[in-house]
Amino acid sequence: MSKIIIITGGSRGIGAATAILAAARGYAVCVNYLRNHLAAQATVDIIRSQGGKAIAVAADVSQESGVAHLFSSVDSQLGPVTALVNNAGILEQQTRVQDIDAARLQRILTANVIGPFLCAREAIKRMSTRHDGKGGAIVNVSSAAARLGSAGEYVDYAASKGAIDTFTTGLSQEVAAEGIRVNAVRPAFIYTDMHASGGEPERVDRIKASLPMQRGGQPEEVANAILWLLSEEASYTTGSFIDLAGGK
Ligand code: NAP
Repeated sequence: MSKIIIITGGSRGIGAATAILAAARGYAVCVNYLRNHLAAQATVDIIRSQGGKAIAVAADVSQESGVAHLFSSVDSQLGPVTALVNNAGILEQQTRVQDIDAARLQRILTANVIGPFLCAREAIKRMSTRHDGKGGAIVNVSSAAARLGSAGEYVDYAASKGAIDTFTTGLSQEVAAEGIRVNAVRPAFIYTDMHASGGEPERVDRIKASLPMQRGGQPEEVANAILWLLSEEASYTTGSFIDLAGGK
C-alpha cells in the first residue's frame, strides 16, 4: 500500500520538519498551509530535491470549506490518505485569563480544536475499514501546556490542547477496531516561529535553564516521535502520548 500523508501546517516549524522526515520515510506528502506560500514551497522544494514526492495545498483547516478542499486535493493528486498529522495550531499574545475575550477564544478553539476534529473526520472516512478503507494512523500535535496550564501566558491555548488530549483518547477507542491508530505528541519549548505569535520570540531561551534538560527542543526531535507513532513499529500503540518537553 502506498503511504500518503497530510500534514496540516506543514509549511513551517514542527510541521515542516515532519513533512521532510515523512518524505524520507517513503510517504507522498501533502504540505498544508494557511497563507505562507513561500514557506510551503520551500518545504516542498527540499522534499523534491531529496527525491521525494510532495504537493503544497493552501487551506484553512479550521473551516469546513478548507478541509473539504484539502482532502479533495489529496484524493485527486496523491490518492487515498493513509496518515494524518493534525499539526496546525495557533496561540496569541501572552496575557491573563481576565483579559481574554470571546473573540480570541473563538479563534483559538476554532483553529486548535475544531480543525483537528474536521480533519480527523475526513481521514476516517477514507481510512476506516468500516468504509472499505485500508486503515491508517493519526497523530495529533498537542502540547505539554495541556498538563502545565500556561498560567500568565495563554491558558486558552493550554485548554485547547487539553481538549486535544481528550479527543485523542476518545477517538483512538472509537476507531481502534477499524484499522486506525490515534496517538498524540506533547511538545514544549521547541525552537519555532510560534513563540513570536505570543509576543516573545526568545521565549525558549528565557525558559531553557529551568528545564531538567536545560535546553530547548528542535522541530526534528518532535518529527522523529511523530514518524515513530505513524510507523508499523508502533502497531500496538493507540491512545498514547509522547511528551517532548525536555523533562518538564
Ligand atoms: P509555527 O512554526 O507557528 O507554524 C504553524 C503552522 O500552522 C504554519 O505552517 C501555519 O501556516 C499553519 N497554520 C496555522 N493556522 C492554520 C490553519 N487555520 N490552517 C492551516 N494551517 C495553519 O508552529 P509550530 O511551533 O511548528 O507548532 C506546530 C504545532 O505544535 C502546533 O499545534 C503547536 O500548538 C504545537 N506545539 C508547539 C510548541 C513549540 O514550542 N513550538 C510546543 C507545543 C506544541 P502558515 O505558514 O501559512 O502560516
